[in-house]
Amino acid sequence: MAEGLFREGIAGGRLAPEKYAENFSDLHPPLDHHEALVEADRCYFCYDAPCMNACPTSIDIPLFIRQIATGNPLGSAKTIFDQNILGGMCARVCPTETLCEEVCVREVAEGKPVQIGRLQRYATDVAMAKDKQFYERAAPTGRKIAVVGAGPAGLAAAHRLARYGHEVTVLEARPKAGGLNEYGIAAYKATDDFAQAEVDYVTAIGGIDIVEGKALGRDYFLSDLTATYDAVFLGMGLGGINALRAEGEDSEGVENAVEFIADLRQAQDLAALEVGRRVVVIGGGMTAIDAAVQSKLLGAEEVTICYRRGKEHMNASEFEQDLATSKGVVIRHWLQPKRVVVQFGKAAGIELEYTELVDGKLIGTGQTMHIEADQIFKAIGQTFDPAGLNGSGAAIAMNGGKIAVDAESRTSLAKVWAGGDCIAGGEDLTVSAVAQGRDAAESIHRALTSNGRA
Ligand code: SF4
Repeated sequence: MAEGLFREGIAGGRLAPEKYAENFSDLHPPLDHHEALVEADRCYFCYDAPCMNACPTSIDIPLFIRQIATGNPLGSAKTIFDQNILGGMCARVCPTETLCEEVCVREVAEGKPVQIGRLQRYATDVAMAKDKQFYERAAPTGRKIAVVGAGPAGLAAAHRLARYGHEVTVLEARPKAGGLNEYGIAAYKATDDFAQAEVDYVTAIGGIDIVEGKALGRDYFLSDLTATYDAVFLGMGLGGINALRAEGEDSEGVENAVEFIADLRQAQDLAALEVGRRVVVIGGGMTAIDAAVQSKLLGAEEVTICYRRGKEHMNASEFEQDLATSKGVVIRHWLQPKRVVVQFGKAAGIELEYTELVDGKLIGTGQTMHIEADQIFKAIGQTFDPAGLNGSGAAIAMNGGKIAVDAESRTSLAKVWAGGDCIAGGEDLTVSAVAQGRDAAESIHRALTSNGRA
């Protein structure tokens, strides 16, 4: 073998095997005991803490940090789980830099927030490592509730309902539970099969039966559920993706970023996963960043994100954008896809048009540029696919292409609640889905116990 022939770490256009483990290791390594105490000591335990108000699940952050500081990590974990039973995953994937840590008074005063996410991970890791269960089920109520989707919203709803003594059946279309946590986020954010460990932790309370491989509209209808169960919670997430609306987008080499991320999470051998030499990702959200960074970590030589608006308009946080550029991803703004350039039936590049804002409206300038690419990822947002709800009898009311719910998370159909990304106003955030699933469960419980009917 000619030493020095290949660039460092690259073997035959792909990485040396040991590089994969290094590239896909934990993004934020866990704090050890001493580090957690030092970090917890930085908290001012603010009255009316802004961090707590910024948390979609309203975790009592100063309290859980104080419990860490006083050597009580189990008590701290309970404080977190009281509000957010998926607090372990949220500690890993929450964009804390735009939520609790953005408003931390230490950030405002010194530009260095208390590392709330890492402290939350510390406490929840301690509890989960000991398999410490904090909740007992109430006496059985005899009520049966169906939950559609075993993602963050469905799991949070199921756990809260099981606590109240109801019997919960969770129907999941995919082969594994976990939803976005299992299939939809970058591998380096949830290492060591954490999503499945968390599913096991949540369901250990009992009274939750997860049935995998069963899809609404294919294997059963919503009307079957409303006829059989006392209440139904819909938390099926988003199944469709937006089209590029560019000529040639059906060509070989043009792929859905969500599927790429899912395949990567499920891959046994990362070296066997296809990745282009020159990759272009179209989009400006977390999915675009996750697909771009992971392409680079898999060994792609050039990775470019193209976004149709400016840096400040990107849905991906500044931290995520910086993460991407630190890995060698180039982010280009004010560009929209116009045409996939196809050679020999495969994508060979993409023609993009420059854009600008005129009177608040985004328009193409007519000027174009070209980027060579053998793999193009679409990451321009997901849509709710209502096909699964068809055949359910009465049509469910929609709002902006998603399921309409009221302040109690009720849909227009009797006995049916919904939460997470599939509802109008869903935020594409694990932590928001958890809050909505939990709150819908509270509403279901109130309805079932106030007059005995949903
Ligand atoms: Fe602690 Fe910062 Fe929250 Fe204040 S805002 S309680 S310092 S984490």
